[in-house]
Amino acid sequence: MAFVYRGNLPELKQEVAEVTDVVNATYKRILGNQRYAKLELVSQRILTPEAFYDDVDDVERDIGHQVQDSNKMLILSPSELKFRSNGELKNKKIRTSVAFYISEEGFKKTGSAKFTNRPVASYIHEFDHFVSYALQRTPLYIANLILQESLEPEKKSDLTGYINAMMEAGISPSQIKENMVTLQVLKTYTDIHEKANRILDKMVLAEIGITVPLHWRHQEKSYGILPTPTGAMMFPTGGDPFRGSSDQEAFESYLDWENRARFTASMPKIQRVIDSVRNIRISRVPLVELLRE
Ligand SMILES: [Zn+2]
Repeated sequence: MAFVYRGNLPELKQEVAEVTDVVNATYKRILGNQRYAKLELVSQRILTPEAFYDDVDDVERDIGHQVQDSNKMLILSPSELKFRSNGELKNKKIRTSVAFYISEEGFKKTGSAKFTNRPVASYIHEFDHFVSYALQRTPLYIANLILQESLEPEKKSDLTGYINAMMEAGISPSQIKENMVTLQVLKTYTDIHEKANRILDKMVLAEIGITVPLHWRHQEKSYGILPTPTGAMMFPTGGDPFRGSSDQEAFESYLDWENRARFTASMPKIQRVIDSVRNIRISRVPLVELLRE
């Protein structure tokens, strides 16, 4: 079975047991036999009981991550990212693992709690993130982390604050432009990441009697214009990046984001970052193994 919960919350255990057959059959239908088999393999190998937390202090003690008290799947990697000055990533391989923080309190703070009182919906949302982590060649989430890390200087505030900080630090206009284009790509990818996941939620939860409202679905994409020192730039603010596609097609294209959500950046450095992200090898190991390093 691919869909499992190995944590300790009695109520969630019970709920998962009740829906597990339907949820697994739904994943199999959506993903097809081959991808389902791969998901099952990754799930059985790395989702050991140690990967499940229901106490934020335990997460901090073991992983050193401060989590907000909202259910979450964490993707972890001890590999420090290193870039050449031309933007190329030096790392050829990154070791990763996942941990779930799932609690009763955490459920109340999730987006899922806005449309259902069944905690299993929130667990399935996090598990859907696990599905793409397991199946995407480079998980888009990790690609986003790499893009974020490639920013020089580091971004510590909102966009406007970041521009001001760069200007105060005397960063050259071309460097500012490079960072802003990187952020544009990042923002687009982040939007795709969360919305594709909600589309998968919708397909899976429909099978267990939960309707996921997606107000943005099939809406035209909207953009905000941000003035920057090197000219105005557009950033996505809403709408549907999968407009015109069925739910199934939308999720398919998300799984294959490296080929479908292709950017050809006009700036060689950013193109090199994106290409390294595409070519990097990701290994997926159990949390205990990762923490032992
Ligand atoms: Zn999410």
